[in-house]
Amino acid sequence: MDVKMPKLYIVIPCYNEQEVLPITAPMFREELRILTDAGKIDPDSRVLFVNDGSKDSTWEIIQDLNRQDAHFQGLCLSRNRGHQNALLAGLLESRDQCDITISIDCDGQDDIHAMEQMVDEYLSGAEIVYGVRSSRETDTFFKRFTAQSFYKLMNRMGTETVYNHADYRLVSARVLKEFANFKEVNIFLRGMFPLVGFKSTSVYYERHERLAGKSHYPLRKMLALAFDGITSLSVEPIRIITGIGIAISVISFLLIIYALVAWIAGRAVAGWASTLIAVALIGGIQLISLGVIGEYVGKIFLETKQRPRYIISERTEEMKEDAE
Ligand code: UDP
Ligand code: MG
Repeated sequence: MDVKMPKLYIVIPCYNEQEVLPITAPMFREELRILTDAGKIDPDSRVLFVNDGSKDSTWEIIQDLNRQDAHFQGLCLSRNRGHQNALLAGLLESRDQCDITISIDCDGQDDIHAMEQMVDEYLSGAEIVYGVRSSRETDTFFKRFTAQSFYKLMNRMGTETVYNHADYRLVSARVLKEFANFKEVNIFLRGMFPLVGFKSTSVYYERHERLAGKSHYPLRKMLALAFDGITSLSVEPIRIITGIGIAISVISFLLIIYALVAWIAGRAVAGWASTLIAVALIGGIQLISLGVIGEYVGKIFLETKQRPRYIISERTEEMKEDAE
């Protein structure tokens, strides 16, 4: 049987990762070797690093790796654009060069060996394979709790995300070609791939601690990511506001009738406390509502400008091919 083996690109965004990159780069290379030896991927598969405007020597390390071994390739963004945009750059730039991509963080937290299972799933017909964490034992209770709440909130707010799946995922070039038509600038990849469709499945793996360096996702950034994810993919919050508005209007209407009746009956008392509470409550709700609506208006503002989602300033040799 002479089936063509898929060419794999492992896409890895890196931001200030000079401590961990020298440790994990050989691990990714080794995984390519294992998969090649098992006859599951093309020997010309690559590890593609996307340097997301690092301020340390990350890009120099990537260039060094590339000089020693052409299986390592790199793209350098012109400035820091954040994890999602860096990943998007890597995926879109490699879609014409390969058959499948696997995106993963460069810190070794996600079990690299799960790639074999992902490729197996692809070979048996799946176009998207989500890597799902089977346990979070190595995370602190706080990180675990906030992360779980994150997924629950996301789903309740009407975005379709795979539970406990971050950005460790196999996506075929075919899916990426369709995905390239999603032109939005506010991107939340893990919520967008389910929208593209195609046959998908999940593989489960253990998540470890970072091998070196420190997390770039403290609580503040995680909340920002959740908020961004929700407002980029769903209008549920606006509906909730409308719902609250309707409920409060109904209550207010009943209150007005009550007040009128009381007034006519001559029982109107100086209701200072109740007035104050009502004004403060409505004021608060109105401000929050305005804020949420403002967030959507801001998103529309950003989308209409259609600015490029990433700008590549440097590429290693092989990644130059499709540059016009
Ligand atoms: N990352 C990036 N740009 C950023 C922040 C992070 O490319 O502005 C990369 C980072 O190098 C890593 C991945 O995104 O490969 C995930 O970041 P991190 O490990 O800090 O997040 P955590 O795993 O703690 O959620
Ligand atoms: Mg990490």
